[in-house]
Amino acid sequence: MLYNSTENKNEVVSASQAIAQGISKDGGLFVPQKLPSYDTDTLKSFLGLNYKGIAKKVFKDFLTDFTEEEIDDCVNKAYTAAKFESDNPAPISYKKYNGNDANILELWHGPTCAFKDMALQILPHLLTKSLKKTNDGKDAVILVATSGDTGKAALEGFKDVDHTKIIVFYPVDGVSPMQKHQMTTQDGSNLCVCAIEGNFDDAQTGVKKIFTTEEISEKLSNNNMMFSSANSINWGRLLPQIVYYISSYCTLVNDNKIKLGDKINVVVPTGNFGNILASYYAYCMGLPVNKFICASNSNNVLTDFINTGVYDKNRNFFTTISPSMDILVSSNLERLLYKLSGDNDVVTKDWMTKLKTEGKYEVTNEVKEKIKSSFYGGYCDDNETKSTIAKMFKDEKYLCDTHTAVAVSVYNKYVEETGDKTPTVIASTASPYKFSKSVLEAVNGSCDDLSEFDMVDKLNEITGTAIPKPLLSLKDKKSRFGDVVKSENMPEYVLKTLGVK
Ligand SMILES: *Cc1c(COP(=O)(O)O)cnc(C)c1O
Repeated sequence: MLYNSTENKNEVVSASQAIAQGISKDGGLFVPQKLPSYDTDTLKSFLGLNYKGIAKKVFKDFLTDFTEEEIDDCVNKAYTAAKFESDNPAPISYKKYNGNDANILELWHGPTCAFKDMALQILPHLLTKSLKKTNDGKDAVILVATSGDTGKAALEGFKDVDHTKIIVFYPVDGVSPMQKHQMTTQDGSNLCVCAIEGNFDDAQTGVKKIFTTEEISEKLSNNNMMFSSANSINWGRLLPQIVYYISSYCTLVNDNKIKLGDKINVVVPTGNFGNILASYYAYCMGLPVNKFICASNSNNVLTDFINTGVYDKNRNFFTTISPSMDILVSSNLERLLYKLSGDNDVVTKDWMTKLKTEGKYEVTNEVKEKIKSSFYGGYCDDNETKSTIAKMFKDEKYLCDTHTAVAVSVYNKYVEETGDKTPTVIASTASPYKFSKSVLEAVNGSCDDLSEFDMVDKLNEITGTAIPKPLLSLKDKKSRFGDVVKSENMPEYVLKTLGVK
């Protein structure tokens, strides 16, 4: 299988090149030229497989320049019971909300308690093997700008992985206390965490600048190193997410919730559009899906886009209690547009250029129709998020995090609006204990000025739900990383950390 850039069809690379490079030279994203097709018989053959078994089959169909042994090795190292609490890293909790079935696909049982572990536990293995095939001998230097969850998940994934180094930058006042504590206490000998004076955009711009400064890349190259990316536009982040949509479908069949071949709906709390796009790829491969429900918070640029076909990022930015969805430019939407425009690199590039220059673009009527027929867009504000957490807990004794609550709330609106009772999978993207303050306020009314870990204890006391082990074990850990730098000093900081002159 070969991959090409969404902004230039003539740019064709292998799977390992796509993963090693992260983004195409023309600024486009790598996409498979043709997706594998899974008919009902294929899905049937998955019913008896565990998560690792399904993952191996899917990876083999996409990573055709990897050997079977290489893929088995990556999957076996990533999805262990030691890292994901059990042999099934993506279990479903069958709950109800407002009288309707709410089948919650829990994607947060990994080491950092957010769904990004599903991809970032395997990406380092895919990446080191890809680098060996494409850039012999060079060590990969991963630079990450994070608003919280990606940084920790990347650190945990890359820690002590041979031939890799990772440096994470976060906005000094832009992450939750738990997220900061998770990152600054990180162990591992090949990593470093640093705060930036500024917001997430400053950190992100700083990282991009380092990536594209020829002089810095040369210095690295002279020291047998090269930059690589772990952010969600890397194909190696998207591919692992396709697996759990297929596995969750099989779980519903195996648990007699649906019959093989029945359609399901999928609800995803969305930020950068990676997670929901993975479900759409699964559908294009043959997974029976009726509707993709794209749930946003008050930063509802995607809701408006799905309803009007106009993407307009010129609007107020809101800081919400679901911070991982506080995004105005959803990078992975580019891949959907490419697909829906019939693999048209010229119009895709045109829209992306307009986004950069005017902050706005409008898709064709044909693409609008396709989006309308497959997607439903909705959003909810912080009050609705909190009342959803409270109601879910009151009715079902089930505690969900703020991002998952956005999904449940928007799903509820969808059912009320359409009456559609198709069995539905709701992606749950984080443990409630990662966002203890907001969740505690939702179920308790207040959080009484408690410290982060006292809030965790209080939430546990009130709800009787289990505190995830990885968060418990952080309590007594000491911070290792206290550096704070100005964003203009990031290049210097990176070179110093790497010991490169
Ligand atoms: C990253 C993240 C999201 C958004 O996922 P995308 O793939 O960027 O759309 C939602 N919830 C949580 C908890 C996250 O960490």
